[in-house]
Amino acid sequence: MRYHLVSACLLGIKSRYDGSSALRTSLLKRLKDKPILLICPEKLGGLPTPRPPAQIVSRSPLQVKTRNKDVTAAFLRGADRLMKLLKSVSISDAYLKSRSPSCGYRKVYQRGPDNIARLVKGNGILAELLMAKSIKIKSIS
Ligand code: SF4
Repeated sequence: MRYHLVSACLLGIKSRYDGSSALRTSLLKRLKDKPILLICPEKLGGLPTPRPPAQIVSRSPLQVKTRNKDVTAAFLRGADRLMKLLKSVSISDAYLKSRSPSCGYRKVYQRGPDNIARLVKGNGILAELLMAKSIKIKSIS
C-alpha cells in the first residue's frame, strides 16, 4: 500500500510551535478514507509543544535556531527517524504545510545574521528529504 504523507498539523493535530493546528478541512475531505501517514518532523525529533519558533540559519552545515537557542540536533534527529521510517513505508505523494523550516516547500522562513526571520526561497528539511526521493509535494498554505 502507498501512503499520502501529510504534515500532521494540516489534519488537526495541535503540533505547531504555538500549540495550534493548521486544520484544512478541504484536505481532510480530500483524503478521507485514503491511506495517510501523519508526520510532524519537529515532534519526531523530540521538540515539545508549544515551543519557540525555529528557523534555518544555515544549510551547510545545517543549523536551526530559535531566537536564542540552537535546536539543530532535534531537527537532525527528526530527519534521521523519518529516513528510517521511510525505508519501511511506501509514499505516493506529500501534502506539506507551507513556510515551515521542516515542511515548507519552495519558500521558508530563514533567520538571518541579524537574528530576524524572513521568508526566503528554499525548502524545509522534510521537503528536501522527500525531494531527494522524488516524491511529489503539494504545499498547503
Ligand atoms: S513541523 Fe510540519 S507538521 Fe509539525 S507543526 Fe510544523 S508544519 Fe506542522
